[in-house]
Amino acid sequence: MVKAIVGANWGDEGKGKITDMLAERSDVVIRFQGGANAGHTIINNYGRFALHTLPSGVFYPHVTNVIGNGVALDIAKLVGELAQVEAQGVPEPRLIVSDRAQLLMPYHILQDTYEEARLGGRAFGSTKSGIAPFYSDKYAKTGIQVCDLFHEGRLRERLTAAVEVKNVLFEHLYHQPGLSVDELMGQLLELRERIRPYVGDTVSFVHRALAQGRTVLLEGQLGSMKDPDLGIFPMTTSSHTLAGYGCVGASVPPTAIEDVICVTKAYSSCVGSSTEPFVSEVTGEAGDELRRRGGDKGEFGATTGRPRRVGWFDAVATKYGCMVQGATQVALTCLDVLGYLDEIPVCTGYEIDGQITRAFPTTPGLLRARPVFETLPGWRCDVRGCTDYDALPANARAYVDFLEAQIGAPITMVSTGPKREEMTCRNPKI
Ligand code: GDP
Repeated sequence: MVKAIVGANWGDEGKGKITDMLAERSDVVIRFQGGANAGHTIINNYGRFALHTLPSGVFYPHVTNVIGNGVALDIAKLVGELAQVEAQGVPEPRLIVSDRAQLLMPYHILQDTYEEARLGGRAFGSTKSGIAPFYSDKYAKTGIQVCDLFHEGRLRERLTAAVEVKNVLFEHLYHQPGLSVDELMGQLLELRERIRPYVGDTVSFVHRALAQGRTVLLEGQLGSMKDPDLGIFPMTTSSHTLAGYGCVGASVPPTAIEDVICVTKAYSSCVGSSTEPFVSEVTGEAGDELRRRGGDKGEFGATTGRPRRVGWFDAVATKYGCMVQGATQVALTCLDVLGYLDEIPVCTGYEIDGQITRAFPTTPGLLRARPVFETLPGWRCDVRGCTDYDALPANARAYVDFLEAQIGAPITMVSTGPKREEMTCRNPKI
């Protein structure tokens, strides 16, 4: 059976922690979209890790970790991350990289950087990891698959065709130096040797695992709001962040996904440009305090170190985010962070042009939306590390009940700290 672990919001919901926890009782963990542009923070008995490309199952020797065909594969970053994890004492993980995954090339990173510079004040706040040019090339059919690395004639042909187009763009739009096919060929052949031991037919592997009754986790990157179709376009990412895309990016049959675990924080956080709509944002001193207390080391990007914008729980966005993911259950993280507050606002509606709505709007409406808050009493104590849901203060449980009623999906797990074991089970469904 397949369980997807995906984000209900803007990313950084704590999916890595939930995947790391559930991987203990799973056989396969698959990354199915995105690249090294976001990170999952995991804190376990080996230490603290920020994984960018590696699936969060790498800490268990019994788990096979798969980089699915839907991923934007930056080989140098993947290999660097593997070395880093092993340097921190983790035994060499089992890893298979799809021979159908496409390569994130050095020119994708350059293009991303040049384009953000060209856009200036209109930039999207890209992490400049090359993700948008990568997926553009994939759908323009000028991308290069991992399998191409093992057919040098074909590789040179495809590279030449790609470079032809890039050089026009680089020289004439960005006024930057052109690329050399020979140089890129040299780099790719070197990277090929580093990735060779891991490359495999993941489509057959995954289908075989399912036929054998194995438990497979799909690990999403970012969250519903960042999906290019159903999110806050164009302030989205360039791959689909929804569990449904797991069928393509991890090659699992749609009917095999039995469980969709949506992860959401007890408050909101969002990275990206300051022009991005973020309706329930808290600014000023209250925002600084929430940011400082959030996550495991404050709300700063795991990949970029950028300060994240923070806000109160946005029930409008989260209800929509869970709906489009098809949530069967919800994991609520970071409840412990809110213990310092006397009262806690929750955004339960958006006011758009004088009308109050609970339906998540398209971008033009979202840009005009103002938050409607309801305020709940806080619990004024530290619940960090609590493992018994019933032992949480009554107001904390009432807060969870309120959020559940708002989002319309069952909250089954409530996380009380960044560490693997800092977790309570609200409804032992998992
Ligand atoms: P992901 O990309 O969805 O895996 O999320 P990130 O790792 O980018 O961000 C989540 C942050 O919250 C990380 O710093 C985690 O260590 C931290 N975190 C996860 N769950 C909890 C929790 O229950 N309490 C606290 N305080 N931090 C948590």
